[in-house]
Amino acid sequence: MRLIDGKEIAADILQQIKADIAKLPGRKPGLAFLLVGDNEASQTYVHSKSKACAECGIHSVLRKLPTNTTEAHLLREIEQLNNDPTIDGILVQLPLPSHIDEKAITFAIDPKKDVDGFHPLNLGLLLRGDPSAIVPCTPRGIHTLLLRTGISLEGKHVVIVGRSNIVGKPLAALLVQKHPSANATVTIAHSKSLHLAEITRSADILIAAIGQPHFIQASMVRKGAVVIDVGINRKDGKIVGDVDFAAVSPIASHITPVPGGVGPMTIAMLLQNTLQIRLTNP
Ligand code: NDP
Repeated sequence: MRLIDGKEIAADILQQIKADIAKLPGRKPGLAFLLVGDNEASQTYVHSKSKACAECGIHSVLRKLPTNTTEAHLLREIEQLNNDPTIDGILVQLPLPSHIDEKAITFAIDPKKDVDGFHPLNLGLLLRGDPSAIVPCTPRGIHTLLLRTGISLEGKHVVIVGRSNIVGKPLAALLVQKHPSANATVTIAHSKSLHLAEITRSADILIAAIGQPHFIQASMVRKGAVVIDVGINRKDGKIVGDVDFAAVSPIASHITPVPGGVGPMTIAMLLQNTLQIRLTNP
């Protein structure tokens, strides 16, 4: 079994981003974070993301808004950032309080500044295989992790458990692209899938994005499969993945740990997306 060290690969990518930014003529890339409410996990995520920005030379702005912020107010904040020439990317940290319509907020971000790639225009471009799409960070991070580890996707059966709009579905669109770096055969499974273990056992590459601690057991994994664990779950005061690492790692050919696998790659891709937008937006 080989451990896929997402932390190390992400650190390498961040070094490259830092070097590219240092050479950039003119203004530094700018990334704005909108954080509504006091969700503890969201605060931690935004903190890690803005710390990475500072380390790489990205100018970041954090707008912290109270839980009772109205949707109209948040839309005005987005409008201001859409018109701010020093800001390349706008990230609204999810989840939002329930009185705010997440769809309205996602649609309000200028697609050219949609650093998370959640706007329907970018998702549509991704589905079409258009290279101008801004690709959501976690799917892009998983794809990069596989490529950097030297795992070819071409012709392989990739099973993704989870069909969310931020992980499962865009990841499937990315890996099925008609491109030498992709060309996978992709199956998406979810909570209504029948015979789930049979489906997961047929995977050459199994990706778990479920949100249930240790859901993927050894009996669900084929010997020699590559296992990517997207899950971030809090259990007994610890962060654990969707894969039972101790049971599955002896069977897998490659596996990502949690923490230290997909998580750091998501942050690296956020910065990569910010730089990519800046380069097309002098
Ligand atoms: P969602 O809750 O939006 O989606 C979970 C998916 O898992 C759904 O499609 C759901 O099916 C499916 N699912 C749930 N239970 C089962 C089951 N018993 N059998 C089969 N499928 C099931 O989660 P996200 O996609 O947002 O996130 C998934 C996990 O990844 C979470 O732990 C999250 O914290 C983590 N995450 C990690 C990131 C990182 O950077 N490492 C980034 C984003 C998320 P159905 O659609 O039928 O309900």
